[in-house]
Amino acid sequence: MNVPLLDLVAQHQTIRDDVMAAVLRVIERQQFILGDEVAALERAVADLSHTRHAIACASGTDALLLSLRTLDLRPGDEVIAPAFTFFATAGTIHNAGGRPVFADIEPASFNLDPVAVEAAITPRTRAIVVVHLFGQMARLEEIQAVAGRRGLPVIEDAAQAIGARRRMGGAWRLAGETGYAGAFSFFPTKNLGGWGDGGMIVAQDEALAARLRRLRTHGGARQYYHDEVGYNSRLDTIQAAVLLAKLPRLAGWSAARRERALRYNEAFSGLGPVTIPAIERENEHIFHQYTLRLERRDALVEHLKQLGIGCGVYYPLPLHLQPCFADLGYRAGSLPRTEAASREVVSLPIYPELRGDAQQAVIDAVRGFYSR
Ligand SMILES: *Cc1c(COP(=O)(O)O)cnc(C)c1O
Repeated sequence: MNVPLLDLVAQHQTIRDDVMAAVLRVIERQQFILGDEVAALERAVADLSHTRHAIACASGTDALLLSLRTLDLRPGDEVIAPAFTFFATAGTIHNAGGRPVFADIEPASFNLDPVAVEAAITPRTRAIVVVHLFGQMARLEEIQAVAGRRGLPVIEDAAQAIGARRRMGGAWRLAGETGYAGAFSFFPTKNLGGWGDGGMIVAQDEALAARLRRLRTHGGARQYYHDEVGYNSRLDTIQAAVLLAKLPRLAGWSAARRERALRYNEAFSGLGPVTIPAIERENEHIFHQYTLRLERRDALVEHLKQLGIGCGVYYPLPLHLQPCFADLGYRAGSLPRTEAASREVVSLPIYPELRGDAQQAVIDAVRGFYSR
């Protein structure tokens, strides 16, 4: 049986009527940039994230870049981030004028290790970017405690974690709720995906939100008057219409992802060469990816390919070893836990429409490989 890693067509079939009607309304009105749907989506995402403000922009990458721009980094200023993440986490630090400083991860969650974060702090540190990888929030309260003692802002890269929660200090806190700013991505393959690029920043501070709004429209609050040099980074009205139509389904989709993850976990627990993803008790994981750590990874990937089962390796080359960051001075061995993860991980199909028989085929294929 062929099982794709992700099946967006299957999702579209379940929502076609709602989304098409919403998009047609935008087309009939011929207002394509910002507009009513964008404002409504901003309100809805702020409510979902328990934040006072939400600012839509052109991509998750821009959501990070605009947030980092508000730090006014100067040459030599350092921003701590994980290296086991999508490139944008560190690419935007560079493009905002900062120097990425990479801290190692915890083996079980793949998220930043608060102890490693503290050890990476220097007098030049200006901020910390925390990634909630694969849909599970990092140890935000511990990292915020480390940051708070030094007055450092914590930016949440929540591109994979919209709607994920973590119990912090006895209360459920949403991804993006407690950081200086939180960045979401609406890239089509994310848990809430548009029909193209899109992103959103959430924040609690009024002045910060106002500055972010200026930065997304060339740095001016008033057209043709510019306080600083910003960007053209707006969300298309059509994208907002698509996302608003999909948003009511997000919680159900995340629950369906969790159910499938639990089924995988059951099927793979006790399978010696395979380590199932840890779900921390404090977290509500939304499983943007279901990621195993395993022996003979590359041979398994080849085996799955031959059987027509989709899988992905996120991420094969950690950011501290990317050629573009060679001048930062890292080498193989600098971040041992990150490098081990890059060698050992594989992500399996986990989308909400994944049928039982298809998931069973994935399970059989993985178990079959290790019983040979
Ligand atoms: C997807 C992603 C981004 C970037 O989002 P885009 O919308 O693709 O620009 C940033 N960080 C992480 C962790 C991501 O997964």
